Amino acid sequence: MSDPFVVVGGDAAGLSAASKCKREDPDREVIVYEKSDWISYAHCGMPYYIKGEVDSIASMLSLSPTEVSERGIDLHRHHEVTGVDPREQTVTVETPDGTVKQSYGDLLIATGARAVTAPIEGADLDDVFTIHHMHSAAALRALLTPPEKADESVLDADYVDLDAITPYFDREPPETVAMVGGGYVGVEMVEAFREWDLETHLYQRPSRPAPAFGEAVGDEIAAYVDDAGVDLHLNTEGEAIAGEDSVERVVADDGTVAVDLAVVGIGIRPNTELVMDTGVEFGESGAVRIDEYGQTAVDGVYAAGDCAEKTHAVTGESDWVPLGLTANRAGRAIGQTVAGDPTPVGEIAGTAVLKAFELECGRVGIIDHDRAEAAGFDPVSETITAGSRSGYYPGNAETTVTLTADSESGRLLGGTIAGEDRAAIRIDTLATALHKGTTVDELERFDLAYAPPFSPVWDPILVAAKVLNGSLEA
Ligand SMILES: Cc1cc2nc3c(=O)[nH]c(=O)nc-3n(C[C@H](O)[C@H](O)[C@H](O)COP(=O)(O)OP(=O)(O)OC[C@H]3O[C@@H](n4cnc5c(N)ncnc54)[C@H](O)[C@@H]3O)c2cc1C
Repeated sequence: MSDPFVVVGGDAAGLSAASKCKREDPDREVIVYEKSDWISYAHCGMPYYIKGEVDSIASMLSLSPTEVSERGIDLHRHHEVTGVDPREQTVTVETPDGTVKQSYGDLLIATGARAVTAPIEGADLDDVFTIHHMHSAAALRALLTPPEKADESVLDADYVDLDAITPYFDREPPETVAMVGGGYVGVEMVEAFREWDLETHLYQRPSRPAPAFGEAVGDEIAAYVDDAGVDLHLNTEGEAIAGEDSVERVVADDGTVAVDLAVVGIGIRPNTELVMDTGVEFGESGAVRIDEYGQTAVDGVYAAGDCAEKTHAVTGESDWVPLGLTANRAGRAIGQTVAGDPTPVGEIAGTAVLKAFELECGRVGIIDHDRAEAAGFDPVSETITAGSRSGYYPGNAETTVTLTADSESGRLLGGTIAGEDRAAIRIDTLATALHKGTTVDELERFDLAYAPPFSPVWDPILVAAKVLNGSLEA
């Protein structure tokens, strides 16, 4: 029996694995199945493409099908894998020409995640979108953009279903939009809608946008979103989207708003049905449990990206944080492992950054006290505000930092940051500290850079560490 490395899913995790395996072991047969038209695309760029900041959809594709084939990878688009038989070591594939079985030596499940719309009613009406597919991005850009700024590269791309997109080019642009869900995608999307001057309503069940970024950052995001003219509906319950055939209004417990476009961004769910009855194990999130090399509970079956959990660097527990680097990095490691060089997929620290209009935000680690307590820590937090550069230097901006630590060991557990002047990227200092198990006392003595155009003598992170260390010692 041949022993190809078979990959299910042709985006971040899947193609990273396929490319790495082929590079390390050029003689190994590598087969990738992707059910859609699209491969190697940048989900993360979609809000900026819809905003018009990114010119062409083509620029958001890292690799074309031709380039993948030139790497020696046997790529099959429009091929959906519908079954896995670990005993026979085969997968069942629905191809445009019928069903086939393919044997594998190693198998990678890199099927990603999908947007959920339940329990929001009316999400199936026309002109209600989710932002988890490039086709939605292409349609929304075509709908919102005036003719002189239209991305006509879409019309030449062989991976775009033109029948689905072209009608949007000829439509009158909408005037009022509801963004249902104020997580990071919701916050990025309202910026795009305001760019096109839409009356924009953001519905969010919790009391702040982007709850993963904590209270201090969430409050700042709310202020920026509000200043940008977005109508914020916080603490709203029971949103429903209603209309005859297409969306006409959003109904929530704070009233009814007439809209002619709605986007639902209330979360995602891992695509794991494919391996449901195969012996693969799942975590509480519903994503696949893997070991340090990305292997599932079934020998020779690996999982990476948004469909898989990973070990959290702070808690040491399996956790689900579906983000881009994690997918690429785990895919690459698995590609190297199946090529004969066992390589750990690495831990996650939950590092994430977000732009909310002019505000830059970052978060890392465990910042929620309930969560920290559940993991066995006794959390203490402090929030400070400090300048981003020397006070006299142009461009200095207030930067808010919150740090959380375990009171007993002094170990840093997590942190958040917000400010207009290069705040987001400062989160990487904290991510590095978390990966090394640094205490706040050690963080306070980090030798961080200083020169007036870049940072004050005491970087905001050092100021926060000093204040939290003081609390821990008190
Ligand atoms: C709007 C948006 C913004 C984002 N912004 C950021 C950001 O700023 N930073 C960040 O770190 N992350 C961001 N992300 C998350 C990031 O894009 C994902 O973590 C990453 O794309 C996951 O890669 P993946 O390969 O695991 O899954 P995907 O990219 O979802 O790819 C999975 C592929 O598998 C295919 N597939 C599924 N089932 C089958 C099957 N049975 N047979 C064949 N093919 C199948 C799918 O069609 C899909 O192409 C964003 C996501 C979205 C939606």
